[in-house]
Amino acid sequence: MMKILAISDQIIDRIYSISVRETYPDVQAILSCGDLPYEYLEFLVSIYNVPLLYVPGNHDPEYTLHDARSRAHGCENIDGSTLFLKGLFFAGLGGSVQYQPGTPNQYTQQAMFLRVYRMLPALAWQKIRYRRTLDVLLTHSPPFGIHDDDDPAHHGLHALNLLVRLARPRHLLHGHTIFYRQNLQDHVTHYNGTKIINIYPFRVMNLE
Ligand SMILES: [Zn+2]
Repeated sequence: MMKILAISDQIIDRIYSISVRETYPDVQAILSCGDLPYEYLEFLVSIYNVPLLYVPGNHDPEYTLHDARSRAHGCENIDGSTLFLKGLFFAGLGGSVQYQPGTPNQYTQQAMFLRVYRMLPALAWQKIRYRRTLDVLLTHSPPFGIHDDDDPAHHGLHALNLLVRLARPRHLLHGHTIFYRQNLQDHVTHYNGTKIINIYPFRVMNLE
């Protein structure tokens, strides 16, 4: 069992606080679904001193090797990659659907399918190596038709529906959208055996 603090899209005052460890104790890992300032992630990783995995959102800077401000220090950007941590298998895919061409971390539906195809060999190899299917798929955008919305910036990504069907993660954690229109009672949807959880703005949960 791993207790995680998952965050997304919005800074929460009681989390951006030196007493956050008393408010939310025993957190073993932090997961960020994106669109948060890297100072916020760096603050949390230094306060908790536990691993922090993140993917970038459509408001985050483009990652480049030589720009120190393009990444969160002390944290793991798992965009397009996989990671094994404390017995759990994670994969990440950041970004949203493209609504403003030329902006970092925005992808056409087609481009997102290519990113998913590129991840499949690593997912298949890790599954054999660790004898374990994917525990957590960390994304910024929701899949298409699940927790998404009709406006161009908040369409879900079709490629994520495919990735869920192929990789069968136990959980998909995403941000980016808030339920102002579809106003579902719950932030959790079950899809093809995967628990899809909207993290916006944060959740504390146990992963088994
Ligand atoms: Zn977003």
